[in-house]
Amino acid sequence: MKKIAVIGSGLMGRGIALVGLLNGFDVRLHDIKETPLKQAQDYIASEIKKAVEKGIYQVDVDTCLEHLSCFTDLEDAAKETDLVIEAVLEKIELKIEIFKKLDAICPAHTILATNTSTMSPTEIAAQTSRPEKCIAMHFFNPPHKMKLVEVVKGLDTNNETVQFVKEIVAEMKKEMIEVNEFPGFVTSRMNCLIGNEAMNMLMEGVASAEDIDKAMKLGLNHPMGPLELADLVGLDTRLRNMEYLHETLGEKYRPCPLLSKYVKAGRFGKKSGNGFYNYN
Ligand code: NAD
Repeated sequence: MKKIAVIGSGLMGRGIALVGLLNGFDVRLHDIKETPLKQAQDYIASEIKKAVEKGIYQVDVDTCLEHLSCFTDLEDAAKETDLVIEAVLEKIELKIEIFKKLDAICPAHTILATNTSTMSPTEIAAQTSRPEKCIAMHFFNPPHKMKLVEVVKGLDTNNETVQFVKEIVAEMKKEMIEVNEFPGFVTSRMNCLIGNEAMNMLMEGVASAEDIDKAMKLGLNHPMGPLELADLVGLDTRLRNMEYLHETLGEKYRPCPLLSKYVKAGRFGKKSGNGFYNYN
């Protein structure tokens, strides 16, 4: 049984842990805080039960949960693992700091992956002694429902690492695309632009949030509207994505002022109960 550690137990980390457990991995989940770790444990237990009840997965719930262990200590979580997937906040300095620690903690064979939506795996890998074993595995929200993993090679990522990650993605029953590193990869680069334009239109009074989303769903056949999708991603995370893309790709990615205003007000979308829509 392959051992994976997931670092950060927020929206994405807990979802990636869930995908691992449902597909027969031993999962070690880490967060610096007890509260998200406890919430993640409850969420994972309830989602595994739902998946079994609906017949989506034929697994034994108790056995599955026995393979989940939770840690507030990074070393306890990451030692003796084959793969670590980092899913902490979208801040390059934080990701670099964690990769440096993981490099010191993990066995030599361990692959270090980041779930960043936009940032450079090369820049993160460069601070470790194993850049050839570093890569980005970009899962989508919610990870157990979304089929794609964008696999992003850094400058020094070697073929063995890509092959290993391809096998993991297949074992997780996901599809993958292989991407050569560039800010925002394929998906976030396009999706952030669409979302930002929707926010600009809302700010300019072109149409209501409901009608902008309805236009994209019924007129252009998108499964979700860009504003409801931004609420699902988390507006704090989306703002960090936009700031990074603005810094690296230029003016057309300037974050919509309405997005910045909402984040300043603590309106982070679905997870805080309020964003472009109200969830209370
Ligand atoms: P989140 O805010 O829901 O969760 C982040 C978690 O990281 C929190 O639980 C926090 O306590 C924890 N954390 C912070 N500092 C830490 C540290 N030093 N060590 C360990 N844990 C720490 O964020 P999220 O939405 O899960 O996003 C995580 C990553 O996934 C980001 O890089 C984001 O860009 C990417 N991503 C997000 C989405 C999405 O839809 N939200 C989709 C794909 C990728």
